Amino acid sequence: MSEEKSSIDGLTDLKIVQFPHPTLRHKSKPITRVDSQLKNVVKTMFDLMYEAKGIGLAANQVDLPIQLFVVNVAGKREEGEELVFINPVLSNPKGTDEAEEGCLSIPQVGANVTRPEQIHVSAYDLTGNEIDMTVNGMLSKVIQHEYDHLQGVLFIDRVHESSQRQVEMDLVEFQLQFDQMRKSGEIPDDQTISKRLAEIEARYCC
Ligand code: ZN
Repeated sequence: MSEEKSSIDGLTDLKIVQFPHPTLRHKSKPITRVDSQLKNVVKTMFDLMYEAKGIGLAANQVDLPIQLFVVNVAGKREEGEELVFINPVLSNPKGTDEAEEGCLSIPQVGANVTRPEQIHVSAYDLTGNEIDMTVNGMLSKVIQHEYDHLQGVLFIDRVHESSQRQVEMDLVEFQLQFDQMRKSGEIPDDQTISKRLAEIEARYCC
């Protein structure tokens, strides 16, 4: 028996998971409660993002099944603005723009992706305040990329046909590495991963 507010294993030792980790394909659930442990998770996500020289990081990239992502387009703690999006909803896409994207869960792989140039995002921040903003440029691209993560979608699903073959070849290496980590027990089996995700959902999403 454990007391109700005890911490969940795995919420304190976060790291960025890489393709093809199954949590990257998990469709995240809306968050219904924010506690101090979740605030620590957000702090750690920013740390991991800066460490990896990224500008956005979604919860399923740190093996969590919840609708949350963090962004700082400056990519440095002491610059730009740290944004936290909880339960984001995108609407009103306008225009199109093509740009090269990469992902901290698929390092060293990049390919062009076409997305709406402008998007409206509604969400909540960590203190429960509503976010309501129309975004363009880099911020728009990052928000759309991170939002995709929460749906279990990766940028490699959206690359142009002309780059697909190259991307597929790049991914073979990731699959081999993943198989190796599974074999060594470094990555648990699917059942163990699902059980843990269900525990976290039971705590934050009901
Ligand atoms: Zn990504």
